[in-house]
Amino acid sequence: MQFYSTNRQSSQASLEEAVMTGLPADGGLYMPERIPLIPRAFFNNIAEMSIRDIAYVVASTMLGDDIDAAELKDIVYNTFTFDIPLRKISSDISVLELFHGPTLAFKDIGSRFLARIISHYSRNLDKPVNVLVATSGDSGGAVASGFHRVPGVRVFVLYPERGLSAKQRHQFTSLGDNVIPIEVLGTFDDCQRLVKEAFVDQDLRRKLNITSANSINICRLLPQMFYYFYAYSQLLSGQPDRIDSDGVVFSVPCGNLGNLTAGLLARKMGLPVKRFVVANNSNDSFTRFVRTGHFTPARPHHSIACAMDVGNPSNLSRITDMYNAAPAPISSDMKAYSYSDDEIADSIADLYRSHGYIADPHAATAYRALAEDLKDGENGIFLATAHPAKFADIVGRITGTEIKNPQQDSTGCISVRHDVPKITPALQALKKILITST
Ligand SMILES: *Cc1c(COP(=O)(O)O)cnc(C)c1O
Repeated sequence: MQFYSTNRQSSQASLEEAVMTGLPADGGLYMPERIPLIPRAFFNNIAEMSIRDIAYVVASTMLGDDIDAAELKDIVYNTFTFDIPLRKISSDISVLELFHGPTLAFKDIGSRFLARIISHYSRNLDKPVNVLVATSGDSGGAVASGFHRVPGVRVFVLYPERGLSAKQRHQFTSLGDNVIPIEVLGTFDDCQRLVKEAFVDQDLRRKLNITSANSINICRLLPQMFYYFYAYSQLLSGQPDRIDSDGVVFSVPCGNLGNLTAGLLARKMGLPVKRFVVANNSNDSFTRFVRTGHFTPARPHHSIACAMDVGNPSNLSRITDMYNAAPAPISSDMKAYSYSDDEIADSIADLYRSHGYIADPHAATAYRALAEDLKDGENGIFLATAHPAKFADIVGRITGTEIKNPQQDSTGCISVRHDVPKITPALQALKKILITST
């Protein structure tokens, strides 16, 4: 598979180039040059297949020419070390729980797949690959966990001295092995600047292989297609005679639109999707775009579904690119809704009261949009992107229940490593650590 840039200025890239550079030089985003159709026969057996086997078929349809079959199977199998169950909420609505991975959020899936693809390509190099990430919260944990103990790769997580909770810090300072936390005596902006400076530093690039695992890497996106197919598989095996022949309605809680882009790609590969429902919090720039056809970026503001506090979604250009040549406008394939914090809280309460289901604020946003949009006779699935334990305070308050963290030990104790190196926000200080840690 070759990958083109959505800006059409850079030349096409191989999978290896697209993954290892992350971004095309022209500032666009990589997209697969064609979307191969999965053979129809696959759907005859899909109801009996596991997430791993489904993922392998989809991955090899897309990347089969790039990575040897046994190798690709290994990468896919090691990505999905946890289940992604579909649970029935009502006769026509189910929820796909994407949050059973190590950091209790769906971003685990993209991070784990990307880490293993980078590891695969690191074998062509004589030195390990160094991944630099700056984090202000949860993203560092997901990336670090995805790369933890993956051979041929080291991860440096830069975080600001203030602003992270003990829990967030714990997610990457407690791993050890090839995950190296660095506390920067400065702000998150300093961390991001240091990462950028390291990338363009010629001296550093001569000495080390450096890459980024940023969220717009194409290999974080591709594995997110797999679970849409798996959701369909579980729906078929659960209620085989009630499937709308036009396909399923998926409701996606949207921030940077990675999840939605993956769903659109899955549909292009042949997954029967009737339409997508886009769920936004009060950061509604994409909702307005779907409704009016005009995009105006906005400054993000805080909401209770905070992972969707995005005013200028980074994957927007992938979606508009897919529709530039498409016969139908975006508004014919998706419906968009945006909700206030109060409406999201009501949805958490409603899901619990009416269906006994405890949802985090992001899943509850998607549920509300789906419930509003679904017509009689349709099958709807909403994506639950985070475990309610990640938002235990607010979800506990609304539902009046105690939300347990499935990963916490009986003492509820959080250990903190004490030997984290601290650096001043200067490239020289970062370079010293990168070059001396082996
Ligand atoms: C990142 C995130 C989202 C938004 O996903 P995108 O792919 O950026 O649209 C939704 N929910 C949770 C819990 C997230 O962490």
